[in-house]
Order: sequence, then C-alpha cells, then structure tokens
Amino acid sequence: MPTSRTRIIPEVDFARNGRQHGFLRLFHSVHSSAYGFIPIPIVVLKNGDGPTALFVSGTHGDEYEGQVALCNLAKSLDPARIQGRVIILPAANFPAAVAGRRTSPIDEGNLNRLFPGDPDGTVTQQIAYYIEHELIPLADLVCDLHSGGSSLMYVPAVLVGGYRRDADMTRQLAALQAFASPLAYVVEANQGGDRTLSGGAIRHDVLALGTELGGSGHVTRAALRIAERGVNNLLVHLGILPDTARLAPDGPTRTLEVGGADYYVYTPENGLFEPLVELGDMVHAGQPAARIHFPETPWADPVTASFARDGFVLCKRMPGRTMRGDCLFHLGTDLAV
Ligand code: CA
Repeated sequence: MPTSRTRIIPEVDFARNGRQHGFLRLFHSVHSSAYGFIPIPIVVLKNGDGPTALFVSGTHGDEYEGQVALCNLAKSLDPARIQGRVIILPAANFPAAVAGRRTSPIDEGNLNRLFPGDPDGTVTQQIAYYIEHELIPLADLVCDLHSGGSSLMYVPAVLVGGYRRDADMTRQLAALQAFASPLAYVVEANQGGDRTLSGGAIRHDVLALGTELGGSGHVTRAALRIAERGVNNLLVHLGILPDTARLAPDGPTRTLEVGGADYYVYTPENGLFEPLVELGDMVHAGQPAARIHFPETPWADPVTASFARDGFVLCKRMPGRTMRGDCLFHLGTDLAV
C-alpha cells in the first residue's frame, strides 16, 4: 500500500492504551488565521490487542442523530471494559457540522461524495483523504451514521452498501442483524457508492455499515435508541465488548433492498409538494405518490408523480417547496436471500 500523504496531524496516538481525545489538525491558512487549523474532534479508546471499530458521524453536518449517539458513546464507554480499540469521529466534516449543513461552508464540499479524497485538495477533500488513507486502514469495521438531513426523512434503519446478489455477503448481513434495528436494508452495488466513506471501506476490504436514522434536521428518542443499541451491539459483534453487554432487540429485523432507478420518485415540475402516501406505507406500481401544485397559478391543474414499482416507503422529502429533479420518495422491497 502506498504511503499516505496526508497533511492532517492527529493529536491522539492510535497505539496508546486508555481513553484519549483531541483534534485532527487540518491546517487552513485564511485571512483571519494565518497559521490556524480546523480542529476536527476525535476520541480513541484502546485496551490491549483486538479488533478496531471506527464510528463516524457528521459526514453530513445536518444529520444529528449519529452525532448525539457518538457524543454519548465517547463519554460512556469505559476503555477498561473493551478488548481492542474504538475510534470515534463524531463530526467528520467539522465545518459542515458546526454550520448544521450538509456541505462545508468553506468549499461547499459534500464529504460523502469526495472519497478517496485528495491530500492537496480542498478542506473537504483533505478530510476524505485522511479518513480513507489513515483511519479506515486501522479498522475491522467502519460504521458511518447518517440520516435524512435537512431535506429527507427515513424510517430509521441500518444499511449495507455495495450489495451484490452474486457475492458472499454473509459477513455484511451478520453485522446488519447484529445492529438489532427494527428495519435494515441493503443498497445494491453500482449505485455510485464508490465516492462515499463506505465505498472507501469496501476498497480496503473493511466491513462497512451505514445508517439512515431519521432526518429532517432533528433528533428523535426512537432514532437515538436504535443508534445507541446498534453501536453497542456492533462492539459485542466484533468481540470488543463481552456478550453480556448485548442489548436486546425490540423484535425481529425486517430487511429490505434498495435497487435501481425505479425505486425513486422525483419531482416532475417546480412547485409545492402534496404527498399522497406516508413513511412506512406499502405502495404498488402506478400508484400516485404526490401532487405538485402551483400556488402562483392556483387554477392550474396539479401534476401527479407516481411510483414505478411496488414497495415500502422508506424515505420521504420534507420541505414543501420542490424543484424538478428533487427526490420525493424512495422505496425498499423485502430482501429475498
Ligand atoms: Ca447522509
């Protein structure tokens, strides 16, 4: 493997036992701070030899459930109780997380579309490069905690990207089950996931899980409960926490798959979004999904957008105003293993 050329300097020593916290120093020379750095917080817990779990949130700064769950984990996890190492990066795109935005206010970078990154690139490209070339190679499992952000809402779920029907996915499906979420799904390969953090983990042959915990720019108790149990149970699954630490599921996990373009419904015209179904509904091909209204000309007939296939409504757009090309809904279908 080629040597990493990152310019980011960590304040923590990944080989040291115990609990450490500090910052990844991303030097960023600007008018108001000539020698300054962007302080990306990181927590490392280690106790002897064993597997390493890397937990990330704030890849999108306006997705808060994972950030809260990892703040809680960073304080509650006792390094003496673990065997191995836990690396927590709760605000991966730090400038975006502080701004409460999907993308960085510095360079408009969407961290989850910039992997494998560039050590000499923009601030967001440098973060992607550091995660891909410095953190992921340390890990046996990477879990990137997302939600729907400002514009989308999900039924809270854990997920695996890069799913291939023709490949052995036993390891991924076992981790998905271990998370003990009421809902799980797999996203088929070829959905453009290679520029994501999970894509980076797949490149390094590191087990990768993600989540979509809710969204619409807020945090619910239900989503937090799923996230915190899932993260805890992944540590048990890896053997970093003992079996006795496993938290019981509320019930069985329903596992869906998300396939290609026919799973998605997009806005056909600029206007106002009237949903005709809700999250969790089962729908059928041809069923109207939404009407788009035109308040500027309220006498004009609304335009209807319909589902292209049967499925479970997994994700819904939240803002009422919408423009052609916005995603209004996406579906999942029960996974036949
Ligand atoms: Ca996201």
